[in-house]
Amino acid sequence: MAETLAEAVSRRRTFAIIAHPDAGKTTLTEKLLLFGGAIQLAGEVKAKKDRIQTRSDWMKIERERGISVVTSVMTFEYEGHVFNILDTPGHEDFADDTYRTLTAVDAAVMVIDAAKGIEPRTLKLFEVCRMRDIPIITFINKMDRESRDPFEILDEVEEKLALDTAPITWPVGRSKTFCGSYHLANNTYRGGDAQVEPLKVNGPQSVAENLPENERQTFIDELELAREACRPFDRDSFLEGHMTPVFFGSALRNFGVRDLINALGAYAPPPRDQVADTRTVHAAEDKMTAFVFKIQANMDPNHRDRIAFARICSGKLERGMKARLARTGKQMGLTAPQFFFASQRQLADTAYAGDVVGIPNHGTLRIGDTLTEGENLVFQGVPNFSPEILRRVRLEDAMKAKKLKEALQQMAEEGVVQLFSPEDGSPAIVGVVGALQLDVLKERLQGEYGLPVSFEMSRFSVCRWISAENKDDLEKFMTQRRGDICRDLDGDPVFMAQDQFSLRYESERYPSIKMVAIKEYH
Ligand code: GDP
Repeated sequence: MAETLAEAVSRRRTFAIIAHPDAGKTTLTEKLLLFGGAIQLAGEVKAKKDRIQTRSDWMKIERERGISVVTSVMTFEYEGHVFNILDTPGHEDFADDTYRTLTAVDAAVMVIDAAKGIEPRTLKLFEVCRMRDIPIITFINKMDRESRDPFEILDEVEEKLALDTAPITWPVGRSKTFCGSYHLANNTYRGGDAQVEPLKVNGPQSVAENLPENERQTFIDELELAREACRPFDRDSFLEGHMTPVFFGSALRNFGVRDLINALGAYAPPPRDQVADTRTVHAAEDKMTAFVFKIQANMDPNHRDRIAFARICSGKLERGMKARLARTGKQMGLTAPQFFFASQRQLADTAYAGDVVGIPNHGTLRIGDTLTEGENLVFQGVPNFSPEILRRVRLEDAMKAKKLKEALQQMAEEGVVQLFSPEDGSPAIVGVVGALQLDVLKERLQGEYGLPVSFEMSRFSVCRWISAENKDDLEKFMTQRRGDICRDLDGDPVFMAQDQFSLRYESERYPSIKMVAIKEYH
């Protein structure tokens, strides 16, 4: 029998992996795809990374610095579930990209290096997940190496993240003797991911046999303590973001990854309801709705295309259907939506709520855009952060000013930089959250548009979006401070200040003007 919409939706799991660089996110992604059958050989993700790097010039920066600049999505199936993994850049200079991606997921896997515990990036990303009540599954990686005591790691998660932990599996052995995972509630043992089904065992004693003699008793005692001292898993508490189920493993050596995929299927929530301006949209509603959280240009330089990554929030997307773009009110045909598998893209004939598809376009779609089958609604919550760095772009060849203007507009539409046009007509100001984004901008302006540029300090260093309850107040303020007002890409007014001090001073002087550091796209 054909699958109903509700059934198809309930099989979807859409998640991101959050980790401090080097904790093993890439390796884990690769293994998830491997066990999900999306790739034949582990190593393809890396291979793919390399291929993309050699294919596109503008990613030279990534190659040089060895960081992943690009956010992408990968889809795979495993035991009846359809998983969409959204990849996030590891480097904090691309934090805004990461935050936007996290608006499109329903759950996150937090990877922790067993020797290092909670690292700064993990903490930061965790905080974003908490802000959005995203449930988190914890994977303690690298158990095949010298690691901290598992209890100590659990304590650290509880303390630093104020998050209850519930170990689901317990590591059998450590570093060289690490040989598998023991499921605390089911009393099963899996000696590595090659073993698809875990083995039902007769208590910890029989599993301890896999360890050298001098480690057996410790393991048995530890397991008893874990059972007594640790909290049992409570799914509601997990879904509310108060508790994290914990798994131990080694992505590199294929331990614990199957435990993790099963947990994603069993515990992680199906596509969540999404809040729009007029109402809340439920995933299993008939009509298709989606929002764009990421734009990526020139993935294939031969085509110079732009791909908008859209998270489907409800209903079913069918290739060829028409959708209404909320920002313009115009219809657009979705003629070539795509799924991304590990090594290839494929046309998506149908995609359901929870899925992330790439929509090729020539600049029609922007970050934050809502697409619907007809209803006039706009999803809330794709954030825009006020930049930490503001610069003027200096063009070496002044004759190319018009071309620069167009190029900057495109870069801003893709979310590479933010663009602010001063009301007084002076040259545009670009803003970024992290300095590396400026490098990406420079590289791409040169590589894709043949525009060599440099950056100059601007007399401003902070900016805020402004609004007021009373329109006249806003207009008056904008007229009085014309030299300090810009418009962003959407035409929304922005107040520019020399430094934090003057920002504070001005906001006290003009109490009726609301100045905010985070703008939600609308
Ligand atoms: P990312 O920066 O988080 O994507 O981390 P990678 O997946 O690139 O891993 C960083 C390094 O740790 C690489 O050299 C991996 O081979 C290694 N690594 C990843 N997982 C494990 C593991 O489970 N055990 C060991 N020993 N090394 C690992």
